[in-house]
Amino acid sequence: MYLEQIKKLVLLQDIDNKLISYKEKLDILPKELNELKENLSNLDNKKLELEDKLNILNDQKKRLEFEIEDNDSKIKKVKNKLMMISNSKEYQAMMRELDNFERLNRTKQEELTSLLEDINLHQKDYDELLGEIEELDNKIKELENQSESELKDIEKKIEELEKEREASCASIPAPILARYNFIRERLSQPVVVAVSNGVCMGCYISIPPQTFVELQKGEQILNCPNCQRLIYWEEFYNKTEAE
Ligand SMILES: [Zn+2]
Repeated sequence: MYLEQIKKLVLLQDIDNKLISYKEKLDILPKELNELKENLSNLDNKKLELEDKLNILNDQKKRLEFEIEDNDSKIKKVKNKLMMISNSKEYQAMMRELDNFERLNRTKQEELTSLLEDINLHQKDYDELLGEIEELDNKIKELENQSESELKDIEKKIEELEKEREASCASIPAPILARYNFIRERLSQPVVVAVSNGVCMGCYISIPPQTFVELQKGEQILNCPNCQRLIYWEEFYNKTEAE
């Protein structure tokens, strides 16, 4: 009778351990998915920032190109006028003007060159980012499909285990079950432990001789005086298990 109860407690503990690990999985899967989604939204923000930057740079490019073109036509006009001028003072003044326009255009051309380089670099980053986003998006969709079926499986297993647990609890006397639940709520795993060579396998501290003698009698379920876990004598258990 005593050993029967111990075995039932060990069985209940197995069920509870499985329940704990399944419930952990139930938490972990959505968490993983959320993390990936957060990464995706960060990348999307980065994409928007890059788009803004590229828009600004492209506007600058358009403006510069327009200015250069405008200057070019001014240069052309001045050159045409130059051919019709005979007065040398006027000619020199126009030459200076021409020189200024050309110098200005060279500067703008240099500006445009470095701007184009900048645009290229940002465009490259942007294209890479689009690739990353697509990859992550696919990964999330895949994981969503996978985790949906996986979560269903886990929920089903939990349901089965809950039923097993109910049946298991029903077969254990209420006061013993209450002690088991009390310890489970307060201590880390395990709840029911063997005493091996006089040492509690829950806290690894020796059982006092008097308790050990009681334990070997196998009459009632005892707690470890140190950690309060439910204890049983290993050899006793193994012997009847072998029989
Ligand atoms: Zn202990």
